[in-house]
Amino acid sequence: MTDIVTRFAPSPTGHLHLGHAHSALFGWRTAREAGGRFLLRIEDIDPKRCRPEFERDLMEDLAWLGLTWETPVRRQSDHLDDHRAALGRLRDLGVVYPCFCTRKDIAAEIARAGHAPHGPDGPLYPGTCRHLDDSLRQARMEEGAAYALRLDVAKARGITGPLRWHDRARGWQEATPEILGDVVLARKDTPTSYHLAVTVDDHLQGVTLVTRGEDLFFATHVHRLLQALLRVEPPEYHHHALLTNERGERLAKRDQAKSLRSLRDVGLEPSAVRALAGFPNDL
Ligand code: GLU
Repeated sequence: MTDIVTRFAPSPTGHLHLGHAHSALFGWRTAREAGGRFLLRIEDIDPKRCRPEFERDLMEDLAWLGLTWETPVRRQSDHLDDHRAALGRLRDLGVVYPCFCTRKDIAAEIARAGHAPHGPDGPLYPGTCRHLDDSLRQARMEEGAAYALRLDVAKARGITGPLRWHDRARGWQEATPEILGDVVLARKDTPTSYHLAVTVDDHLQGVTLVTRGEDLFFATHVHRLLQALLRVEPPEYHHHALLTNERGERLAKRDQAKSLRSLRDVGLEPSAVRALAGFPNDL
């Protein structure tokens, strides 16, 4: 049997709240109960939103909560070469194209088309740059126009054929990555994206069981496709239910009242915060 390796992969864009504590404890507990290993990964590829002080604070908060993790901690921004290499392999397969659209262009195109397909997170990229003429692409790049790189999901599916993945809560899933459209693989400001970085890093870190909130359930369809294109073994998944507040609303980072630090500052003990995060038993 393979050893279980789980991870918690927060982005240092704010202070951790109870929802993060739930997710971290979920992964930590799962590893511990299986005699496995638990990793922490810092997902800091967004240079505008991530801050070193949030990284420091989140580690302090997790340690205060009673969690332990293996070192060294992988910080994504230190490993962009791994993401570039994977992107190169995808480019060689011909499933990546440059997209020069701004958010405004995309919104205008969606409004113009009148019937843009929608995914779980809103309207999908309408495909404006998918079939641009090569000479036009070249000219725009030479002009110095900023561009992201997108996955041509239909072409990619043509290469991999049908795929499936396993979720511990919901069982086997047929992969339907087209549900999120032609996702971004490298952003205009960073040579990677959430989807690419998470797929590459889970593989390179030897994660065998990805535990994360069910808000990322649909992203897994895309990750499965990327794994097949990159020819790496898929891990197993367990998407857990999200913690909600008294009104049944999902907790957000901006809800600072529920940050772990604020609970600590009003005198709560780690065990009380673990209980609020859905783990009432002793560690
Ligand atoms: N970094 C992501 C977040 O903070 C989580 C990524 C994952 O668990 O796959 O929402």
